[in-house]
Amino acid sequence: MFPERLTQGYRAFLDGRFASERTRYEMLAERGQRPEIMVVGCVDSRVSPEVIFDAAPGELLVVRNVANIVPRYEPDRDSQHGTSAALEFGVQALKVKHIVVLGHAFCGGIRAFADEQEPLSPGDFIGRWMSQIAPAAESLGPRAKDDGEGYLRRLEFASVELSLQNLMTFPCVRILVERGRLALHGAYFGVASGRLLVRDAATGRFEPVAGDLTAALPKFSGDF
Ligand SMILES: [Zn+2]
Repeated sequence: MFPERLTQGYRAFLDGRFASERTRYEMLAERGQRPEIMVVGCVDSRVSPEVIFDAAPGELLVVRNVANIVPRYEPDRDSQHGTSAALEFGVQALKVKHIVVLGHAFCGGIRAFADEQEPLSPGDFIGRWMSQIAPAAESLGPRAKDDGEGYLRRLEFASVELSLQNLMTFPCVRILVERGRLALHGAYFGVASGRLLVRDAATGRFEPVAGDLTAALPKFSGDF
């Protein structure tokens, strides 16, 4: 049976958002989509880009995978490249102007890699997928014994950094970035804190967006 939660949610959507944005949906159907921003996010159910950025239909082109990884450009014919296909679609067909790699705190994929857990399935797709972030881990050096959570947060940031570098291995991305027609951004969502950090292109540091918009919220004890 189709989950009741989804039927309820769909009913609420029809009465609410669809009703109020009907003209927009019709226009999008007629003229096609033209999102200017693409987001590479994690499959994690807590970090939906459309929710975090309060996006209307047609505004964000989103591709989500385990741990928001952009693979390196690999034009081989033997593998399937879902994320690379989405990137090609966003950059070449839709001509997005921005690509945001959106990392987040408490990422299960990053933890799985760092803790080198036993393969979750006989196929171990996750282990193989996450092995792509090995260069990010190498950039951090060896993990100190008593540095559990701190290390994971640093690896989450380093992984976003690596994905930004990997984006530049795609010829279609690199050419447009060099011509100033496409901008790449790194961002990081804190989940519990609601904080959004954005990578400063000049310093490479992740800073709170707009001087930390969460400052007005009730005090949160942790960082993320
Ligand atoms: Zn994640």
